[in-house]
Amino acid sequence: MGVKIKEWLGINKNTPYVSHYLEEANIKASIYMAVVVIMLELFMILRTLVKYVILGDESKDLHWVITHFSSYFILITAAIVLLIVSVDYIRKKISSGVHAYAVILAFAAISLSFGMYIASVDYTNGNQVLTFIGMELYIIALISWRPIVSFVLSSSTFIVFRIICQKAAGKEFSEGDRINYFIFWLFMLMVSVSLYHQRRSAALKDEKLLDANKVLEKLSVEDELTGIKNVKYFLENIEKILSDPSVRLSDKIFLFMDVENFKAYNNQYGFHNGNKYLKDLALKLEEIFEDSLVTRQSDDHFMVFTDRKNVFRRIEEVKKHIAENQRDIKQGLKVGGYIPPERKLDPRLGCDRARYACSIIKSSRDRDYLEYDEKMHESFTKRQYIVNNIDNAVNEGWIRVFYQPIIRTESGKVCEFEALARWIDPKYGFLSPADFIPVLESMRQIDKLDRCIFETVCNDIDRIREMGKKVLPVSINISRLDFELMDTVEMLEEGTSRHNIPRECIHLEITESALNEDVTSLDNAVLRLSDKGFNLWLDDFGAGYSSLNVLKDYSFNVVKLDMKFLTNFNERPKAKIIIRNIIKLAEDLEMTTLTEGVETEEQAVFLREIGCEKMQGYLFGKPMAFDNMVKNISDGTYAV
Ligand code: C2E
Ligand code: MG
Ligand code: MG
Repeated sequence: MGVKIKEWLGINKNTPYVSHYLEEANIKASIYMAVVVIMLELFMILRTLVKYVILGDESKDLHWVITHFSSYFILITAAIVLLIVSVDYIRKKISSGVHAYAVILAFAAISLSFGMYIASVDYTNGNQVLTFIGMELYIIALISWRPIVSFVLSSSTFIVFRIICQKAAGKEFSEGDRINYFIFWLFMLMVSVSLYHQRRSAALKDEKLLDANKVLEKLSVEDELTGIKNVKYFLENIEKILSDPSVRLSDKIFLFMDVENFKAYNNQYGFHNGNKYLKDLALKLEEIFEDSLVTRQSDDHFMVFTDRKNVFRRIEEVKKHIAENQRDIKQGLKVGGYIPPERKLDPRLGCDRARYACSIIKSSRDRDYLEYDEKMHESFTKRQYIVNNIDNAVNEGWIRVFYQPIIRTESGKVCEFEALARWIDPKYGFLSPADFIPVLESMRQIDKLDRCIFETVCNDIDRIREMGKKVLPVSINISRLDFELMDTVEMLEEGTSRHNIPRECIHLEITESALNEDVTSLDNAVLRLSDKGFNLWLDDFGAGYSSLNVLKDYSFNVVKLDMKFLTNFNERPKAKIIIRNIIKLAEDLEMTTLTEGVETEEQAVFLREIGCEKMQGYLFGKPMAFDNMVKNISDGTYAV
């Protein structure tokens, strides 16, 4: 038999959800039925009692009174039982619908029998058989029976009723009666079937919605890359744990985990393998920290909220896993810990503190675990302050641009300036880039600063022009993240056009380490920038570890040698050889060379000797405010 026909007849197997839905609907309906029957029968009992017993109406004999009374009692008792069972079911005191259905069925049988009995008496007295009809409607159409059950129940009761009546009256039903009963039976059956299908399709629709919701729910708590729980889930559940009075806070700990050298792994083996690595590690973390909360915060950063008991053994297990999966690149694990001090702690703050502790040992060789403590609190608070106040700093003018001169080696004259950010804070006073740039980068807010610096530089160039002075080019520092966080190319183009500044006047310094990251947006942006005529400088060359690759892959106008080449310049004869060779290599690649951090006359002499074209450093001038720069140029301190 076709599935559709089976479904129509109700001989199919319903899903548990649909069965439960129909069960619940029937039990709710039976509560109404029970209440109505109880009221009606109470009325009938009282009426019979007053009329035939108390007032002594003699139109009915004792037998009549007794049989009617007993019928009312049976019916009211059945209704009361039905009511109790149904209410218990709704209150979830009974879990299975089987009991409830047994009671509904018993109630139906009693009601229908009652209907048949009373109606057959009425029939023999020449009255209408409305009790039977009413009971049929009541029982068959109010409860959603499966169509096949409705058919059997209604047909059998109609046949039995006909037999009872014919027997009691001693004659056959008239043809009119037969047709009327048939039509009524048919209509009632159709009403019942249609109600059943309406409820069933409502149940199916609900079930689909529920399924869709389940999928969405799963997605909403899942980390896209690794499939473990996401940060939202992690934070919400920590909140629950923290507020549970039975949990001892001193037993709990936030862990922030950072996989060492993961970026290098990504570079070496590609994104796809990098992702696989993270997924594998995520699952391992879930396994090691079972019964704990585990999530991936970003990139290769994982967070765990767990019990302090056994925590070191578990961390060791993670490290072991990492070591076992290590390939050519040395991989390790740094962990920061934080014990929640109070129930009202914002879980995000807990994560930040663990992360902060971890960041302190990031480049340490001998430590791989650090717990957040009071000593760290001050610098952490400063860091939070910076993140929370970057908008204020930009809007209130706390961000200033300081200019450091860059000189041409041959002439000894200033040929341009580097714009360096300073934060003059009402609370903390003078903040240097080392205080705020790493924080803004790690919090992905650096674009706000760089946008502000660029705009200030443009305004300063306007001011120089208004003074009728010569405009020197300015180099500004651009963070790798800027290319992710904003349309940097658009910003630079728009700004230079609006201020009518020739593009050659703005030089962009991008640090070498930025270019090691596998970021396609950066590649494109670098190409677009040089297409648009901006001068690109490679900053901090030599500070990273794949410097030569960068030279090969990108075309820069200027290479800026990192100042670390000049540290202990005298004691390290090799440094001189390296600098000499880099300068030579850059020349061959047709790039201009600049060395930063020049502090002594001796260094300057050497750089001049080997042909480094530009120099920058305290020897020539520290970064200074705009007014000082203008003054120094005007009074001839700086020859331009
Ligand atoms: P950088 O771009 O390599 O800038 C050179 C840094 O070296 C500056 O530090 C400068 O003051 C310092 N310096 C210059 N000459 C000497 C010297 O002779 N000896 C010594 N010891 N230091 C010297 P500063 O201003 O503290 O900036 C640090 C870094 O912060 C910069 O390194 C740059 O990477 C970043 N930075 C500064 N301003 C901005 C900015 O507006 N945006 C972004 N994204 N980064 C910035
Ligand atoms: Mg720079
Ligand atoms: Mg530099």
